[in-house]
Amino acid sequence: MEHLLLHVCCGPDLTYAYEYFSKEYSVTGYFANDNIDTEEEYEKRFYQAKIVADHYKFMIIKKIYEPEKFLVASKNLENEREMGRRCEECHRMNFRSAVEKAKEINAGLVSTTLTISPHKNAEMINRIGCEEASKKSVRFVEENLKKHEGFKKATEISKRFNLYRQNWCGCKFSRGTIG
Ligand code: SF4
Repeated sequence: MEHLLLHVCCGPDLTYAYEYFSKEYSVTGYFANDNIDTEEEYEKRFYQAKIVADHYKFMIIKKIYEPEKFLVASKNLENEREMGRRCEECHRMNFRSAVEKAKEINAGLVSTTLTISPHKNAEMINRIGCEEASKKSVRFVEENLKKHEGFKKATEISKRFNLYRQNWCGCKFSRGTIG
């Protein structure tokens, strides 16, 4: 099986995403989300993802929290709508980090849990993932996990695991929205 580094946004989305990708690939998780607005929330979301990884018995790597990177990425884009240019830069920042990690651990493939969310644009995510991966000769595995009723399945599994699901995307600009 080829080795895929899976960028993980949160535990609930990881449930179905892992079940899906692990049918075809040897998956390592990578929690990298400098966009999350507080360290407390970063740790809380990672903890949920670790519960999932421990359940399915695969490794998940936690990136150190560097919120200043998101401040740079989102500079002058504070007022953008969700799924606009700020989100593009946010995905780019996280995928760049995932591609670097994939190179470090010799994983030839990268993908993400993000396309499972009904609030995310899979086309944009796949395009940015491919752009960042191609810079380092890694292949981004394009998917749209929504297509497979991924969100519904992830919600059901998460309820069984009693996982915390946040009700905003992650950055301070998305507080009070869903995503
Ligand atoms: S709304 Fe979500 S994807 Fe967009 S910039 Fe904020 S954290 Fe990133």
